[in-house]
Amino acid sequence: MKKQNENTRFLIDHNKKQSELYQSPDEVVRREEYLRVHKTEIMVPKCMDGRVNVPLITGIPMGIIAPYRSMGARFEIGSPSFAPHVRRFYEHVRDQRIENGVACGIVVTTYHYSKGDTHRGCKGFACDTAAAREYARKLKEEFEEVYGKSHTLIYPIQIGIETEELRRVVLRSRSPTPART
Ligand SMILES: [Zn+2]
Repeated sequence: MKKQNENTRFLIDHNKKQSELYQSPDEVVRREEYLRVHKTEIMVPKCMDGRVNVPLITGIPMGIIAPYRSMGARFEIGSPSFAPHVRRFYEHVRDQRIENGVACGIVVTTYHYSKGDTHRGCKGFACDTAAAREYARKLKEEFEEVYGKSHTLIYPIQIGIETEELRRVVLRSRSPTPART
C-alpha cells in the first residue's frame, strides 16, 4: 500500500510539473513559434505504453500533437470509437487550410520496440515487433484508402520508436506530393 501511495504521489507531482511547464511563458512562445513556422497539424495514434513519448523524441513542443492511445496502437480507421476522431481531425485540417494556410494534416502511425531486448518491446503485440510494424503499416494504408494516396490534405507516415535510446525510424512510401512542413 505504501508503494502504491508513493507511485500515486509521484504521478500527481509529475503531472503538476508538466502542467506548469506547459503553461510557462517559454513554452507558450515555443509553441506559437513552432506553429508559425510549421503549417501542419499532427495526429499520432500510439501505444498506451508511457515510453512512447513523441514530443520528447521529436522535440515538438507539448500541445501540438493530437495523441490517441490504445494498447499496441491498435486502431481501425472505421471503428465506432476511432472514426469520429479521424473525421474531426480531417475537418479541422480542412478548415485550418482555409483559415490559417495549413498545408496538410500528418497522421503518424507508430509501433515501438527495444533494441536491447525483444521482451521490452510492445506488450500489445506480445513483443512481436514485426507484427506491430505490420499493423502500423496497415493503419497508414487505411488512411490512404480513405483520404487518398496523393496526400492532398491528409498525409500518413509510419514511424518505429526505439525506446531505449529514444530513436525513431521513419518508414514512408514514395509520394508525388511531398509533405510541406
Ligand atoms: Zn506497446
